Amino acid sequence: MRYTNWIDGDWVDAKSGEVSKSVSPADPSDVLGEFPRSGPEDVNTAVEAADRAFKEWSRMPAPKRGELLYRVAEVIRERKEELAQIMTREMGKVLNEARGDVQEAIDMGYYAAGEGRRLHGYVTPSELTLKACYAIRRPVGRVGLITPWNFPIAVPSWKIFPALIAGNTLIWKPATDTPRTAYEFARVFEEAGLPSGVFNLVFGSGSNVGVPLVDHPKVEMISFTGSTEVGRAIYERAARKLAHVHLEMGGKNPIVVMDDADLDLAVDGIVWSAFGTTGQRCTACSRLIVHEAVHDELIEKLVEETRALRLGNGLEPEVDVGPVINEPQLHKIHEYVEIGLQEGAKLLVGGERAAEGDLAKGSFYRPTIFVDVTSEMRIFQEEIFGPVLSVTQAKDYHEAIALANDTRYGLSSAIYTKNINTAMRAIENLEAGITYINYGTIGAEVHLPFGGVKETGNGGREAGQAAIDQYTEWKTVYVDYSGRLQKAQGIE
Ligand code: NAP
Ligand code: MG
Repeated sequence: MRYTNWIDGDWVDAKSGEVSKSVSPADPSDVLGEFPRSGPEDVNTAVEAADRAFKEWSRMPAPKRGELLYRVAEVIRERKEELAQIMTREMGKVLNEARGDVQEAIDMGYYAAGEGRRLHGYVTPSELTLKACYAIRRPVGRVGLITPWNFPIAVPSWKIFPALIAGNTLIWKPATDTPRTAYEFARVFEEAGLPSGVFNLVFGSGSNVGVPLVDHPKVEMISFTGSTEVGRAIYERAARKLAHVHLEMGGKNPIVVMDDADLDLAVDGIVWSAFGTTGQRCTACSRLIVHEAVHDELIEKLVEETRALRLGNGLEPEVDVGPVINEPQLHKIHEYVEIGLQEGAKLLVGGERAAEGDLAKGSFYRPTIFVDVTSEMRIFQEEIFGPVLSVTQAKDYHEAIALANDTRYGLSSAIYTKNINTAMRAIENLEAGITYINYGTIGAEVHLPFGGVKETGNGGREAGQAAIDQYTEWKTVYVDYSGRLQKAQGIE
């Protein structure tokens, strides 16, 4: 089956006529379709369509846009299971997690629809009499969205819904690894009756579609989620045209376990955070920092639970851990395991490809735990983006926090402790955009800000009210109804 771009309300081939195939990482004989390899001309057509659609869409009253987005959320709800199945086939996460991914889009759709009746600005007194002052939100314009494959519906939905409710039109470049999921998601907006050109979908690579989108003079804003390396390159390029750039990037998220923690609770949270989505979450826990007094006991429980995880095709209900996204990523993960061994870390479990029986068909890697990891090691510092957990011991709270913060990333963080003082201090001390107490590093909710500090982000936040801030510009309004020239700042 051959799929096409969605530009100006039509499904159209790329100018090049070339295609690439999307296959399942659990079983490459499961083909999800052929997708256009678009280029700069296709990007240009899509941007022109978004430009033409902008006037009418941005003038539509926001509550009316909200009604449309509510309808979109309803259609996603109806198609939830179908979308989840396609996602699992295309990128491998187990079906239950894929359902959660789709659910985030439903939640975000309803949330953004409601924002249509808020989009609050503010009114404030003037320093003069007979003068009104207020500030309102305006859309930014045409926004380019570039997204990764690991949350192929949730992450785009965090961008698409807030962008649309605020009155922007958009051009979306999804990840090359998940085009079918992107196609199905876009179809929902078509089905719900979004006007032509408001939402344009262009398939293709980072260099052939991503770069021209970033460079296009009519694209006022780029919102990107992906690796820090690519995000930095986008930031530099977009700076030349002074575009708004919203970046959500990598993580090396720590869980700290103190000596007073509930260890069974901690083990469940660690396994879910480190090996859920096969460790391929921006918020995955990849560093475990454990108080030395409970280290051995915790590790014993953790290894036992990790060994019990069942690998396999995520469509099968008994499977806990699906494949990694593709062969190059599997090789990168294994290289990191070899680096860890060379650096002197001790491998307790995993550390190899899984290829028995049906697993031989796909890209499966065993959940892996290293202990005796020190902060100088590359496996402690670099984002591996796979099922690899590094464990480091700390002698007390201060050392644990110093270790947790010893990273260039700052997305999510967590601490397990029963001591309220320790918990409250950790909230202040952990350098991260998100901190969980007595829970793993994952599980964001759509009505709260999401994003990170340090090299995870550039100051913006996704979701919640913060997303509305990203996708709007302030307009300040002064109405002088005195009928004479009143000068501000006390000028006579
Ligand atoms: P990636 O390689 O950075 O790719 C992300 C997107 O950027 C893809 O659509 C990619 O296209 C595109 N791209 C690549 N090079 C580009 C360029 N030069 N200019 C413009 N666009 C370009 O990331 P990934 O491997 O898909 O995803 C994993 C990364 O995403 C991890 O680092 C993870 O931490 C991060 N992530 C962060 C968050 C967050 O919210 N902080 C959430 C999820 C994931 P192609 O697919 O065609 O290469
Ligand atoms: Mg990639």
